[in-house]
Amino acid sequence: MVPIEIVPPRRVSTLEDPLPTLYSHSRLSSFENCPKQFHFRYVLKVPQESEGIEAFMGKRVHEVLERLYVFARRRQIPSIGKVVARYYAFWEEHFDEERVRIVRRDRKADSYRELGARCLEGYYQRHFPFDGDETLAIEERVIFELDSAGRYRMQGIIDRLVRDRDGTVEIHDYKTGRYLPPQKQLDVDRQLALYQIGLEKRFGPDQPMRLVWHYLQQGKRVSSTRSPEQLDALRADTIGVIERVEAEEEFSTRRGKLCDWCEYKVYCPEFGGSLPPSEARTRKAKPPNEKAAPGDDQLDLV
Ligand code: SF4
Repeated sequence: MVPIEIVPPRRVSTLEDPLPTLYSHSRLSSFENCPKQFHFRYVLKVPQESEGIEAFMGKRVHEVLERLYVFARRRQIPSIGKVVARYYAFWEEHFDEERVRIVRRDRKADSYRELGARCLEGYYQRHFPFDGDETLAIEERVIFELDSAGRYRMQGIIDRLVRDRDGTVEIHDYKTGRYLPPQKQLDVDRQLALYQIGLEKRFGPDQPMRLVWHYLQQGKRVSSTRSPEQLDALRADTIGVIERVEAEEEFSTRRGKLCDWCEYKVYCPEFGGSLPPSEARTRKAKPPNEKAAPGDDQLDLV
């Protein structure tokens, strides 16, 4: 007789017993980069009135790659011309010169637009006809707990989840920034390793997994793996960061080279700014559960 597995009911959020805050890699990175920025973005929830053009371009490239794989899964592969035309159409549809900021004075919007097109062309040429692996999911949202009690909850969006020909499950991520990290940095990268933790329940602890980054500007595919011990250490480290976030009261500024890309620079006391009175109230409510924006990794910029 086949044993019946009893699945406990999924815990739901109620007024008396709300679920703990859902964190993400980008939320924790914001805190680590600058607690004041985290405060503006996630505690005060000051609306982001502008967006760096690097992040804007990254989003458009991600949208097109998502769409490309939707068609590729149906074996309806669009031509490279159609892919680039779709990218330009998305760009025109979303671009607002009042809202999209260009920090580098020597660059114009068109140069970023063309850079994104070159990223896509290069990726297309390297992967056509898109049958080297099996796409399991595109833009897959994972929600998971870091601890058995469900106190530390995380979420993330996987650009593409893949089964390689050797059976390995791969977590793919597209990067459009100009910085290509060395292997030793990728071997301790947090984001994709957290997603691996998030997939453990689905695939089981014995499923071989690989973390794969596509650095589109450089035309490089790089990968890394994690041992069970490394994942345990990551769990503990990430819980430590969450505890620091939740204990924080000062939210001090951390001035640095990323400030020029910070959407809150105009409000930042480091630069003589302050919040308008309507924004200056501290809200008790938890910040919303956000989707990590593709291309939102500011460290890519420098
Ligand atoms: S401008 Fe710089 S110091 Fe100020 S909040 Fe932004 S990142 Fe932090």
